[in-house]
Amino acid sequence: MSSRPLEHACELTRKGFQWARTRHPWVYRDDLASASGSNGDIVRVLHEGRVIGSAFLGTRSKIALRWIERSEEPREPGAELWRERLAAAHARRAPLAARTDAYRVVHDAADGFPGLVVDRYGPVAVLQSTTAGAERIVPAIAEEIVAVLGVQAVIARNDLLIREKEGLPRESRILRGTCPDRIWVHEDGPLGRIEYPVEPQRGQKTGAYLDQRENRWAAAERAEGRFLDAFAHQGLFALHAARRAAEAIAVDSSTAALELCEEATGRNGITNLKAIRANVFDYLKEASERGESFDRIVLDPPAFAKNRAEVPAAVRGYREINRRAMGLLGAGGLLVTCSCSYNLSEEGFLEVLREAAGGARADFRLIERRGQAADHPVVLAHPESAYLKCFILERY
Ligand code: SAH
Repeated sequence: MSSRPLEHACELTRKGFQWARTRHPWVYRDDLASASGSNGDIVRVLHEGRVIGSAFLGTRSKIALRWIERSEEPREPGAELWRERLAAAHARRAPLAARTDAYRVVHDAADGFPGLVVDRYGPVAVLQSTTAGAERIVPAIAEEIVAVLGVQAVIARNDLLIREKEGLPRESRILRGTCPDRIWVHEDGPLGRIEYPVEPQRGQKTGAYLDQRENRWAAAERAEGRFLDAFAHQGLFALHAARRAAEAIAVDSSTAALELCEEATGRNGITNLKAIRANVFDYLKEASERGESFDRIVLDPPAFAKNRAEVPAAVRGYREINRRAMGLLGAGGLLVTCSCSYNLSEEGFLEVLREAAGGARADFRLIERRGQAADHPVVLAHPESAYLKCFILERY
């Protein structure tokens, strides 16, 4: 691919330059002194007339620039640059790829691809682009994905709501090759291999919740007695844990997800896992009314706070499920509790857990602080990119 010099440039204000020095991956519109170019263009970034890097320009959202490179001589961002970054990101996943064929290959700015994620499910790669800039490079990237990963198909799952903010259509399509409706992938957890089905063209997210992988393994290592997997989706916490627990129960409100759970239960030869369709709020309440108790409980709800305005209601929801779950555990019982709300900080979530324990009149030790899976790296300068919080609490 021949490269053109970068035509357009954006100049940072003094304040914008200070902000850029924090190494945050974005620059907001208010921090631009001047801008030229259209939505999705790759532009030179200037400060006092001097080139300091290159970035994707966004003209629709508050985020004006997403850094591609910080350098006085930025490279022409063409196929070669993307191939190098993709190959490096892929190589970083090698230790994980030895244990599973389902993993994230590209995680946004943390892998040098602002606005883009690429997940691999065995022979299929699924990408999601959330910005106009990322959208422009998709054709070139699709080509490189086939070359670097050796997959048979590349599909775009671009049905995300946030794309509307960027003026992008919501759509899903096959970019390369042919994609089976269903793929069986595997994870070699601490108690052995678990196989599970993924439907990349219609499942939640790009097909599965890859970001919880190592947390599932940590929970399985500590499995014992009665194990409750609440907000289970296809029961991946329960499937791993069932190898050690006496009994595993997966609760979710989605019939489709529970069907996948039942299929995986059979395929893995597991006989002590029960999938139950229920609202977790009701299930926990009724379980305590029935006088049940559990040895291990996982709470992995969807993001209750999708934006800042929803935080207060979300906090009430987190407090309630955690309080109820805490009350269902006896001494020595473990709670593996998660929040994937980008707008709720780790400290904010801990505060909710303290209130929940107060409400449950129970004492807990915080025995492990965990986060998102290793293939979803956090950008140090962007605290919210550590979106998944996972704590293991022990009742005493
Ligand atoms: N633990 C799963 C991912 C869970 S995602 C894994 O590791 O793969 C959150 C799940 O919560 C989704 O499957 C969704 O169907 C379910 N869900 C959302 N609200 C619910 C509710 N009130 N009761 C039960 N399940 C719910």
